[in-house]
This record gives sequence, C-alpha cells and structure tokens, in this order.
Amino acid sequence: MLVLSGGTGTPKLLNGLRKVMPEEDITVIVNTAEDLWVSGNLVTPDIDTVLYLFSDRIDLDKWWGVSGDTFCTYELMRSLGHRERMMLGDLDRATHIIRTEYLRNGYSLTDSIRSLSASMGIKAKVLPMSDDQVATMIVTPAGKMHFQDFWIANHGKPEVLDVFQEGIETATISPAVLEALEAEEYILIGPSNPITSIGPIIGLPGMVDILRTKKVIAVSPVIGNEPVSGPAGKLMRSKGLPVSSAGVAAYYKEFLDIMVIDNRDTADESMFEEIGCKVVRADTLMKNREISMDLSRMVMEQFNA
Ligand code: GDP
Repeated sequence: MLVLSGGTGTPKLLNGLRKVMPEEDITVIVNTAEDLWVSGNLVTPDIDTVLYLFSDRIDLDKWWGVSGDTFCTYELMRSLGHRERMMLGDLDRATHIIRTEYLRNGYSLTDSIRSLSASMGIKAKVLPMSDDQVATMIVTPAGKMHFQDFWIANHGKPEVLDVFQEGIETATISPAVLEALEAEEYILIGPSNPITSIGPIIGLPGMVDILRTKKVIAVSPVIGNEPVSGPAGKLMRSKGLPVSSAGVAAYYKEFLDIMVIDNRDTADESMFEEIGCKVVRADTLMKNREISMDLSRMVMEQFNA
C-alpha cells in the first residue's frame, strides 16, 4: 500500500497499519515542505517522525522526536546566545547531522533517507515527496513566514491570509516516488493536515493526474468542525474551505474515491455525494494502537471491496 503522510495524524495510522500488514509492503510518500535548515543541518520533521515510528524510537506522547531524548545541546547553545528555530533533541540531532553529511557528499534527499532507513533497520519504504526544496509559507498581515516560524516561534497565532508552497511549480516528483506510484494501485491519504502536509504532495506538478488513475481513500483529520489537533482549521479557512470532513473531501475531490469520517462526525453525508466520493464511518480518533489497527483493517477492506 502507498500512503501519503505528514508528521502526526498519518504516522498514528501507520502505527496500526504496520501491525496488520507486512511492513515491507508499505511505502510512505512524505511531505518535505516543512523542512528547515537549523544550525547548518537540514531538519525534515515529517520524514523523521516516520523514520522514528518504523524504528520504534518515536516519542509516542508528542509524536515528534526520539523517545527519552535530552536537549543539552539546544540548551547550551541557547545559554550562549544561539537560539535555534526548532527545539532539537540530542539524539534527534544525530539524524540531522548524518542526513546533512550525506547531502554534502552529493546524495539526493531520497538516497540520504534510504541510507538512514537502512541503518535504522526499517523495512517499509520511506520516500521524500521530492528531492527539490519546497517550503510552505504562511501569509500574515505582517508578511510571509515559513510554516515552522508561524507554528513554533509565533505559536500559530498570527491571522492567516493565505498559504502557498514556495518552489512547488518547479519541483519534480522524485524518480523513486514515480516508480512507487507506477507500481501501486491503492493510495491511502492519512489524517494529515490537508493544506500543509498533503497539499504540497498533491501540489507537485503531475501528481493529481497520477492520483486520478488510482483508487484513493482518505481518512479525515477533522471531526465535526475541529481538527483533532494543530492549525488545519485556520489554514483550511484561509483557503475558503469549510472546516469539516466534507471540506477535506472537497480539497481532494479531483481524485478521491472514499472518505473515511469519524463515527462522531455530524457531517451531512449528501455533501460527499455532491463531491463525488463514497463515505464510510469508523472510530478515527487514534487514542491507542488498537484503534489504529482497527482503522487500518477497515481501510484495507475498503480497498479490497
Ligand atoms: P504535522 O506534519 O505534524 O502537521 O502532521 P500531520 O499533518 O500528519 O497531522 C496533523 C493532523 O492530524 C491534524 O490536522 C489533526 O487533526 C490530525 N490528527 C492527529 N491525530 C489524529 C487522530 O487520532 N485522528 C484523526 N482523524 N486525525 C488526527
């Protein structure tokens, strides 16, 4: 199965999926538009969450970083007047250093992640969406800023006028992603932020045309009129989308076949008919691994139906 992922909602689903199907049969195409250079190293937050998940090192409370990590380097640098744009853990930082060494030695991002993945003993295929740099930018009344600066330094507070991906028009789908897409008929879009996590992947030139030829199932990151977490609501509103599972389906309407919404969702199901997709319900609030496994099984049944 091929899964499109950001760094929180979809990894929670992957945590179940990897228990109900062979891990080597899972390929994850991961958003890179939140990547950032920090103190000379490239940090790829969404990819790293997926790597740490598959290598059983993820911090399951925060859904980012390495479990049991410390922040000595970050704190020491801060005391010396060097404040980093992201709070990086000491163990996590090792990944950034190694990845950046690979890049400095001429590896593509895809090859760097392939090597890191192999070193971590990961059987699933983890593929950056592109080897080209793409950055999600948030337009606020004070000007545009990188998504991470909006979300971390500004705590997601500024008014959002628009969101766009810098570099997307000239970025290309990586050859490894193209190959994976050619080989796979079923695409699962996990419950990730549609605008900042899935938006950059489907925004790559040519991606929508490819997805139209596949069976695509998406799980909604919105239940009722609120995302489960994070700024998806604010960002969807800036794109003129209603904050609802129907709003997410509308965003994917060009290629979506089935939308999975939560049992508790109050959505009017006729909206999905208008959008042109089937709707199915499940418990999508993944409070534990059992719920993620049940949801994964249900998605697999829908693919095979
Ligand atoms: P990011 O890269 O950290 O922003 O991560 P994602 O985009 O992958 O995940 C953020 C989205 O996951 C948010 O919009 C949340 O609403 C959604 N999310 C987080 N946990 C859950 C969950 O348990 N169930 C569902 N349905 N959505 C979730």
